[in-house]
Amino acid sequence: MDKINVDYMLAIEEPFLKVPLEQLKREARQSQKLAERETQLVTSGLADLMKKQGSLPPEEYSRTLDGLIDKLKVLKRKLEESKQEETLLINRSKQRAADLNELSDFTSATQPEFQRWSRTRLERVLIDYMLRSGNVNTAKQIMEKSNLEHFADSSLFALVMSTERELREQHSCRGALHWCAENRSALRKIQSSLEFELRLQEFIEMIRGKRNPEAIAYAKKHLITWSDTQLPRIQRAMTLLAFSPTTTCLPYKNMFDVARWDGLAHEFRMVIFRLYNLPSQPLLHLLLQTGLSALKTPACQSDDASEHNRNCPVCQTDTLGKLAEGLPLSHHSNSNLVCRITGEKMNEDNPPMRLPNGYVYSLSSLTEMSKKLGGMVKCPRSGEMFMLKDAKKLFIS
Ligand SMILES: [Zn+2]
Repeated sequence: MDKINVDYMLAIEEPFLKVPLEQLKREARQSQKLAERETQLVTSGLADLMKKQGSLPPEEYSRTLDGLIDKLKVLKRKLEESKQEETLLINRSKQRAADLNELSDFTSATQPEFQRWSRTRLERVLIDYMLRSGNVNTAKQIMEKSNLEHFADSSLFALVMSTERELREQHSCRGALHWCAENRSALRKIQSSLEFELRLQEFIEMIRGKRNPEAIAYAKKHLITWSDTQLPRIQRAMTLLAFSPTTTCLPYKNMFDVARWDGLAHEFRMVIFRLYNLPSQPLLHLLLQTGLSALKTPACQSDDASEHNRNCPVCQTDTLGKLAEGLPLSHHSNSNLVCRITGEKMNEDNPPMRLPNGYVYSLSSLTEMSKKLGGMVKCPRSGEMFMLKDAKKLFIS
């Protein structure tokens, strides 16, 4: 019972390790690209200068050289910033790997060291949940209190939240398009059409603003490049030029629908999570669902609330029960009898008692009730009153 399933725990913790590594990969690739591009520019600038040697006035010569030196200085500063970020991500990866490595030393779930480890994990799972749902201040408080900044992916979630807000509230694709440009090759690899959807939205907004010539020029520049995979949608987009935003004609009415902005925000979140190997659901939900699936019985799903067990979290249909909706029923090799009044298990210490009307409750719940009702008990299902002494003890064979 107190054995730790390390393989299971490591499988569920995969994103915890992968996120900083993915960030590191991207950061390294971007700084490499930047260095290649800038040194190429400086080299060709120098080659140009060599060709013109002798034909340029000395001031012009020295101005061009100063310009090239400035370019290299900017490159140096950017590479230093990037190195700092890379060092931070390498340290973060090491700290996370060391945290998971501790699991191999634990021998029992009751060990105080494991309890401490679990406590920290619970805190980082809560931070992840808070950051995903936009409760940044609460997340910060937990991080500061427990010194867990290195276990939180704050910058990634801050980017997700600000880009989503820009899409949903300001109806602007700027930040999302900038991100797509920086991650174009990765997006191509997962065959994402997010950039096309964003471009299409900008095109739609131009038509909504009655700027059709601008929209046509925009389509030629940004939509046509997607003709290999999105031709029917580009054709439909061009037909949209003939409609006004008040049209009731489908599918053009839907293309003008402002709810498309919410769809884009959701799509952005799904794509960035996929790129960083983050699950679409918070880890808190996954962990809770693991526990809930072990408790779920057919009675939990019953429409009749009297079938529900007040101590069963799956029966709480407004809260945890919602999380358990898609989960399979648990497999029970042994049956447990549970009292409908208290939710307690009925066994030889707390035997099931049958009232004269046939309904069964636990001895402890009926005894408790009889103390308040002067020796009487009231059946919660039928409302009938009986003397406690008329309840018969049942024997389970
Ligand atoms: Zn239940």
